[in-house]
Amino acid sequence: MGIHHSRARIRVHTHAQLTTTWLIPETPGFPRMTSSQMDAIHAELFREVARVYAETKTLPEETLCALSFMFPGNAIVMALSLVEKRHVTYLRAPSGRGAYQVTGSTGTPYVCLASSGYCGCHSYRFGVLRRGTHAMCKHVMAVRLAEAMGLVEMRDVTDSALTDVIRHV
Ligand SMILES: [Zn+2]
Repeated sequence: MGIHHSRARIRVHTHAQLTTTWLIPETPGFPRMTSSQMDAIHAELFREVARVYAETKTLPEETLCALSFMFPGNAIVMALSLVEKRHVTYLRAPSGRGAYQVTGSTGTPYVCLASSGYCGCHSYRFGVLRRGTHAMCKHVMAVRLAEAMGLVEMRDVTDSALTDVIRHV
């Protein structure tokens, strides 16, 4: 294969307008990728997950390999486990607003804003924002996978309940 796992530092912007660095695998001989190119690659990968899962109701080894290459470490395994356990819920308010809530492995609920990759968890704050060693935390990864696989649990809540949940973000 000849793929070398050196890492490139690139800058990404978070929803909070913070700028941080993000470590990504780099393939020698190819130019370094920008954050929008990485976003596009992630989007393409999750579209592939959606296509394959819709067709086969499973994720073949090839897709799992692609996911673990893009997201090194065990976060992808933990994210898939959260999806399988139906721990990804979308809180939907009558106003049309909504937010994802992911129940972590220890039962703690985390609010995730999938569009910006924000999560209220420790690894988002320290692994994604501060150290820049992760592209996204396992909860946001679980949201993206659950969206792609159609495995998001929907829960209707009032607008004030939603506001309350988001306020604690
Ligand atoms: Zn998280």
